[in-house]
Amino acid sequence: MTQRRPCVGGNWKMNTDRESAVALARAVANAAQEHKLEQHADVFICPPFVYLDAVRLELEADAPEGPTLGAQDVSEQPNGAFTGEISSAMLQDLDVEMVLTGHSERRHVIGETDDVVNAKTRSALDAGLMCCLCVGETLQQREAGDTDRVNETQVRAGLAGVGAHHLDSLVIAYEPVWAIGTGRTATPDDAQAAHAHIRALLADLYSPDLASGLRILYGGSVKPGNAAELFAQPDIDGGLIGGASLDAEGFIAICQAAAQTCHHA
Ligand code: PEP
Repeated sequence: MTQRRPCVGGNWKMNTDRESAVALARAVANAAQEHKLEQHADVFICPPFVYLDAVRLELEADAPEGPTLGAQDVSEQPNGAFTGEISSAMLQDLDVEMVLTGHSERRHVIGETDDVVNAKTRSALDAGLMCCLCVGETLQQREAGDTDRVNETQVRAGLAGVGAHHLDSLVIAYEPVWAIGTGRTATPDDAQAAHAHIRALLADLYSPDLASGLRILYGGSVKPGNAAELFAQPDIDGGLIGGASLDAEGFIAICQAAAQTCHHA
């Protein structure tokens, strides 16, 4: 039977400054070490691009076994005249191991299409980064009964051309748009239903074996108080955490809930 190691990511979005980013990273790393989290779960943090290096130096100095470094976005281009963009190689130069693609704020606020999300996902995976592909429906789509169709479209499009050999480096995050940053959380049953649907689709796209090894994280107003019941669902393998990842203690409590309650297939 395939084992799925719990995984929790912190998406700091456009928050913190240099000093508070370094302090938050240190606090997360210290708490992770204290609770020996690395024995039970993968933890990554995604500071703003401009603080990645400062956070990296802090983690390397103080916490070699602490959380790994992630980035909130990546360019699909390798280099060249793309003002403001950041390439996979630049991120790897800063020891970044994970990137988010398709986050709902990039889809719905910045306007990234499925094609752009797919190009970024493929480019990051080809470069050797781990990739967390985010998908999820809007409130209107959920109310219209379109949840599964939307997730299916986004997963199919996001993974077009992604070979099975890349699946070890892939994590999916199901993040219903209406639950992100709103304080509204999907019920554990609703989240589980969406995760199970996505896993069944992955079984179709790749194989049942590969799908059962892939981690699918839930994201959307996860907090210390609701994490355990979400992570206890059989197809929920951890979380992508926004607001609550800005508080080290709360974030670590969520990571501990994942380490203790996530299903290990
Ligand atoms: C996110 O940004 O991916 C997220 C889930 O945010 P929040 O936890 O604040 O809803």
